[in-house]
Amino acid sequence: MSGKKPREDVSIEFKEYHTPSSGIFFKASKQLYKQDSPYQKIEVIENEHFGRVLILDGLVQTTEKDEFFYHEMLVHPVFLSHPEPRSVLIIGGGDGGVLKEVLRYPVENVCLVEIDPQVIKVSQEYFPWLSPCLKDERTELIIADGTEFIGQTNKTFDIVCVDSSEPVGPSVSLHEEDFYQNMKRCFREDGIIAAQAGSPFYHLDSIRKKNGFLKSLFKIVNFYSSPVPTYPGGNWAFVFLSDKVHPLDIKGNPPEGLKYFNPDIHRAAFSLPNFFKDGLD
Ligand code: SAM
Repeated sequence: MSGKKPREDVSIEFKEYHTPSSGIFFKASKQLYKQDSPYQKIEVIENEHFGRVLILDGLVQTTEKDEFFYHEMLVHPVFLSHPEPRSVLIIGGGDGGVLKEVLRYPVENVCLVEIDPQVIKVSQEYFPWLSPCLKDERTELIIADGTEFIGQTNKTFDIVCVDSSEPVGPSVSLHEEDFYQNMKRCFREDGIIAAQAGSPFYHLDSIRKKNGFLKSLFKIVNFYSSPVPTYPGGNWAFVFLSDKVHPLDIKGNPPEGLKYFNPDIHRAAFSLPNFFKDGLD
């Protein structure tokens, strides 16, 4: 511990509760944005250590300092396992972090389906990576409810990344069985889906429930995990879904320049701690 006495308190304090008596807090040196959209409360604060922090309905979504853990781990495991991904669907992901990672690959097109245009607008203003990605000619931005989109589209995809927020507000439907049932409509035979699945420490019950219905829909259902410093419990679960491709059947190499992901991390991520493994059934 540095033992340094914190400077005199000149900031707003943002608190995210993970239980009624514990959570995470940030001293905000600046409140950069705070408004309700028709879908959710959107805030951006500046924090001395984490830089800019995007908060939706009081829950941390992404921070400049640690965004790479989550965004790399939602994207690169599926790209390492897919033989030749050409078309990608991202559902949610309005902050652009997942899009940034997908565009590192020579894909032909990426469809980003985000329900809230205000998240796009705010993220373009405060998170430097989004604008260049939206200008990339391979990116197609669709403002729609992801649940409706997959029920109506006649497009099919090699890879789908479900970058939803927690199951609150507009995101609830993205965590339900119907959504995944419908997703199979727009998913190619050797397609792969990666979805964020919550905190193994705090949300194991909902992960177990999700595991139950996913196993009835997909032949291959593999949870994996990664540290995400600013998420509840500091460790986050993801799920790899396919009918044909196994996650440890590695087919390629990740791009240069990643800050967290590499093939060893890939293999380790699918080895689960006992409480998580035992808690799935
Ligand atoms: N990495 C974050 C996490 O794990 O909590 C999620 C990041 S991203 C900001 C989540 C995005 O999903 C938000 O921009 C939100 O507006 C969007 N979203 C929520 N429900 C949606 C829906 N039904 N269809 C499409 N986008 C949705």
